[in-house]
Amino acid sequence: MKLYSTLDREIVKIEPNKKGVITMYNCGPTVYFRMHLGNIRAYVNWDILHRALLYLGYKVERVMNITDVGHMTSQDDFGDDFGTDKMDRQAEREGLQPIDIANKYIDTVLDDYRKLNILAPNGKEIPAGMNFETVSEYGWTRATEYIEEMIEIVKKMEGRGYTYETKQAIYFDVTKVPDYNIFTGQDLSEKKIGVREEVGVDPEKRNPADFVLWMKKVGKYEDHIMNWSSPWGDGFPGWHIECSAMGTAILGESFDIHTGGIDHIPVHHSNERAQNIGAFGHPVVKYWIHNEWLVNKDNEKLSKSKGADTLPEVLELGYEAMDVRYLFLSVNYRAKMNFSIDALDGARNSRLALLKKIKELGSKVGKVLPAYVELFKKDLENNLNMSGVLALINELLKSDQKDEDKLATILDFDKVLALNLDSILNEEKGNGQVMDDRLDELLEKRLEAKRQKDYALADSVRDEIKELGYLVSDTPEGQVVSKI
Ligand SMILES: [Zn+2]
Repeated sequence: MKLYSTLDREIVKIEPNKKGVITMYNCGPTVYFRMHLGNIRAYVNWDILHRALLYLGYKVERVMNITDVGHMTSQDDFGDDFGTDKMDRQAEREGLQPIDIANKYIDTVLDDYRKLNILAPNGKEIPAGMNFETVSEYGWTRATEYIEEMIEIVKKMEGRGYTYETKQAIYFDVTKVPDYNIFTGQDLSEKKIGVREEVGVDPEKRNPADFVLWMKKVGKYEDHIMNWSSPWGDGFPGWHIECSAMGTAILGESFDIHTGGIDHIPVHHSNERAQNIGAFGHPVVKYWIHNEWLVNKDNEKLSKSKGADTLPEVLELGYEAMDVRYLFLSVNYRAKMNFSIDALDGARNSRLALLKKIKELGSKVGKVLPAYVELFKKDLENNLNMSGVLALINELLKSDQKDEDKLATILDFDKVLALNLDSILNEEKGNGQVMDDRLDELLEKRLEAKRQKDYALADSVRDEIKELGYLVSDTPEGQVVSKI
């Protein structure tokens, strides 16, 4: 397997610590809001990676955290929300306890994952009706269940001289890690700009980039609802420490892959790496792999504060979860993805067209074609070249192989794609019919547009029909479609 390693700044061959086994940690969801599609893109990407590794014959030991405490702002510990953390604030808003907020949103995460065929970290499918109570059995780690491990790892850093204590918190001293800024190449002194307010909040803080490991239940945090006792007094963990603590508690002091969004690079992952060095004397993680953003038309990151769409909102518009999965897997994790209704329409059309072609192969399942499996593996190993995979499937469909073998091979590929491609075989009114309905709908829409003399709309509908695999032309008898 080759992936883009952020620290190496190039695509590298993944050489696991233990032959045939990949250990992987994924920065997981923060559970005080419904995940937006920008979050979900990452989890679809890492699901593809997990499934690809399994397909390639690796054993995968994987952990994903759930941040259910201590998440203040993404940038710093005393940011604009100083005084309440987001979990507390949302709890107050909804009239619930913070832990109930966390549980409520864990359930929504599981629901989204299950609809999108995202495997649990332990490699199992998420069963219908699963809720927060069993997440740890499926390989998720909740921050609130690893407080002891966090305290232990902070003690390690303390023992090695990487921390200092103020009246308000225990900090990590970033100047103790000479290559703290290895990810960004930024000079530490540059970070001083724009963080004066933060320094003002805790006058004892030494360097602007120092970050909280343990926040004491004092001052503005006196009423913090979730808190635990520690050698430094009652309080709660800073939000970077959970990943170092849980990753090493479960995967050991050295593991292969750590994933996250590119927005994690400058702060969260820089801090995590520094903590690992502070606690263990070495960086722990071999390959840091990051996914790009989902962007809207203005090329801005699609985020909660920008009012981005959630999966339920998209489903309400009439799309299926598999349209979203198709869209997300068709673009490499390293590329920024434009998200729009047009993009979703395109994915939907391509997916339905694929299902229709599969339906035409009949229902007899033959042999998996080894030559195509080899090509498939090559694409997966090539930095998850999923557009290559989709092209390969089309090539296979056009080839003169037996239909039953084409079908067997495509269904085999679906172990990684997880697009429910077999559903077409079992349905009474299959997606082939759905596809025909969609074509009728578009033809009607085009006709209406022409009646209204809205030629721009008529043209764009014609393009949509083309994406489904049909050409439409006008004849004296009306619209005629032909297969491309
Ligand atoms: Zn993390």
